[in-house]
Amino acid sequence: MEDRIKVGVSSCLLGNQVRYDGSHKRDRYITDVLAEYFHFIPVCPEVECGLPVPRETMHLEGDPEQPRLVTTRSNIDHTAKMKKFCAEMIRELQNEKLSAFIFKKGSPSSGLHRVKIYGHSGQAQKKGRGLFASAVANHFPLLPLEEEGRLHDAKLRENFIERVYCYHRWQSFLESTPDYKKLVQFHTRHKLQLMAHSPKHLSKMGKLVAGGKTMPREELLDQYQAYLMEAMALKATIKKNVNVLYHIMGYFKTFLAGDEKAELLEIIDAYARSTTPLVVPLTMVSHYVRKYGVSYLQNQVYLEPHPSELMLRNHV
Ligand code: SF4
Repeated sequence: MEDRIKVGVSSCLLGNQVRYDGSHKRDRYITDVLAEYFHFIPVCPEVECGLPVPRETMHLEGDPEQPRLVTTRSNIDHTAKMKKFCAEMIRELQNEKLSAFIFKKGSPSSGLHRVKIYGHSGQAQKKGRGLFASAVANHFPLLPLEEEGRLHDAKLRENFIERVYCYHRWQSFLESTPDYKKLVQFHTRHKLQLMAHSPKHLSKMGKLVAGGKTMPREELLDQYQAYLMEAMALKATIKKNVNVLYHIMGYFKTFLAGDEKAELLEIIDAYARSTTPLVVPLTMVSHYVRKYGVSYLQNQVYLEPHPSELMLRNHV
């Protein structure tokens, strides 16, 4: 349990009966797949701030910048109670050292994206964020955040889990009392992964690290981590992955026999045309990396950024 990555989660997604009507919203991908790898810290802001189960439904209303959490029938305002709870829970979560948070979509407390905010006319705009989700996002700006619904999209799921593992590696790196040499090593291992997400960030980060020896350590690490998580939030598209695959080929193409090279090019081309998933060229690349012992590539996170058993690259 201790080795698993700590991830916060909306409690109802684990099957806990904490919703307004006493039901749950168990998500099988979270409980049956991700639970093998993540140690979940459940939070139900509505129950933990003192509201009962069952309870009256609530929604957000008023100023989209400062929405209020109000019960829908009797119009009781729970904003202050919820904000007090959020401040306390944020302090607790700071000690947990989470590597991510998965929220329940649509909730006025837990929803991360497009939560309804009602105006004076009674019309709703899907522009809000649940009060607790908003507090987490504001206090942990680097933390990978996602909603359970979006995890059912293969590309969003792969991107989120890649970010979770990357952030977790960064947290472990920070705990290792990092010096300049360790930062260079961290950066070197992540170069191809960064190239797949954002060649622009890779270039900026390369310059930062190259000139970082004389910078105050804290400033260097703060800037590096901001770039790192910004880059990882950008999607690794087919075009960018193809670019990385050709770049990788440059490391061993002189070792490859004519038929090996032709077969690899054919498979990269099939991936570029979306007729085969990313796992196929990467399996072949990994085979050649092992066969020809290319140590620079063996150390690249890009080849295995998350457990292969999750099969995330079989669908992108
Ligand atoms: S969505 Fe959030 S507040 Fe609502 S029941 Fe689930 S965990 Fe509790």
